[in-house]
Amino acid sequence: MTDRNQELFDRAKALIPGGVNSPVRAFKAVGGTPRFVQRAQGAYFWDANGQKYIDYIGSWGPMILGHGHPAVLEAVQKAALEGFSFGAPTEREVELAEEIIKLVPSIDMVRLVSSGTEAGMSAIRLARGATGRKKIIKFEGCYHGHADALLVKAGSGLATFGAATSAGVPPEVVQHTLVLEYNNVEQIEAAFAEHGADVACLIIEPIAGNMNFVRASVPFMKRCRELCTEHGALFAFDEVMTGFRVALGCAQSVYAKLIPGFEPDMTIMGKVIGGGMPLAAFGAKRAVMEQLAPLGAVYQAGTLSGNPIATACGLATLKEIQKPGFFEALSATTRSLVDGLTAAAKAEGVPFCGDSQGGMFGVFLFDELPQNYAKVMTTENARFNKLFHGLLDRGVYIAPALYEAGFVSSAHTAQDIADTVAAAKEVFKTL
Ligand SMILES: *Cc1c(COP(=O)(O)O)cnc(C)c1O
Repeated sequence: MTDRNQELFDRAKALIPGGVNSPVRAFKAVGGTPRFVQRAQGAYFWDANGQKYIDYIGSWGPMILGHGHPAVLEAVQKAALEGFSFGAPTEREVELAEEIIKLVPSIDMVRLVSSGTEAGMSAIRLARGATGRKKIIKFEGCYHGHADALLVKAGSGLATFGAATSAGVPPEVVQHTLVLEYNNVEQIEAAFAEHGADVACLIIEPIAGNMNFVRASVPFMKRCRELCTEHGALFAFDEVMTGFRVALGCAQSVYAKLIPGFEPDMTIMGKVIGGGMPLAAFGAKRAVMEQLAPLGAVYQAGTLSGNPIATACGLATLKEIQKPGFFEALSATTRSLVDGLTAAAKAEGVPFCGDSQGGMFGVFLFDELPQNYAKVMTTENARFNKLFHGLLDRGVYIAPALYEAGFVSSAHTAQDIADTVAAAKEVFKTL
């Protein structure tokens, strides 16, 4: 049989760098041939060979209802008939802003954009404009899109400014970005002691999904909040992945339950709010958001921002996830997957643990949950790759890299979870 995935990959490689339009799709970390998706429905997709997979990527988060949800499909089809893009305001942009502000109390005003990268980049500019300060603090292992100032890894030693992780980013562009270890209270205290008066914002993934799945500890989150308040820096939550994915009120609602009165100052969103269409947003309190053009001096714009089809898709998705019991059911399904995998691994003597919140999860080939990027990256590559390919061969598609989170949708059934655990059990026997 000819391998259509391989044929398409060969064709793609001649035309598109690496054969893909976003690097992780290339299977570079795990080896082998990327699956070219032909179609998807519910919790499944089919590749170019017609092979079916249970999908635990869900477009890296957006597909919280699974693929082709009838209500979302209907909204998108109706919107398409009314026009693709106008470059003038539409009613649905107002409706989506109302929904976001209703669900996330820390946001008074919001601006819609087309990608998480754009939202993160614009939020940083706004934070700098609103505070009149230059420096930003981020954490190792957190991803906030591919804007120049954010492609930075920790420098040598504590509280030194970072080094670019990409060619094409001059050192001058990252000289104001400080990179610290996630969940390290001492480092954040030292950084604010030295640079506090110059820090425009502290940006964090509250539950980091770009180093597999690592929660910010409560004492760490509390200290970040206190230090930002004390030094007049804006505390920016990058909820592009966690927003409307881990809870209806986003990750900030999870921390508000653990830390009374907790709120971030800025929120960056994407993925689920577009329901699979290019849509993202950033929001904050009114006084900060009013610094943005056309009201204020911080420039930001977009030809396709608030696109009418994307807003229709996002609104229909947000409507579904507000139905009573939605997150309870999704959380239970996700937890049953993590628990099932953990039990299966333990039964085969494989070190394993996992964690989840709402419809987002992470699993590790460790006995204990890691607390930062350095620990996550001590995962034995060869073992993870064996797990990945073993599952793939058995029709289960997890992220093709050990530092990515996983996603469960409301379309995943108890049978899907049982099939996944059974497949994993076979693979664990070989590890
Ligand atoms: C996916 C992601 C981004 C970038 O969003 P894009 O739409 O891919 O540009 C930013 N931050 C976080 C936390 C993400 O998971």
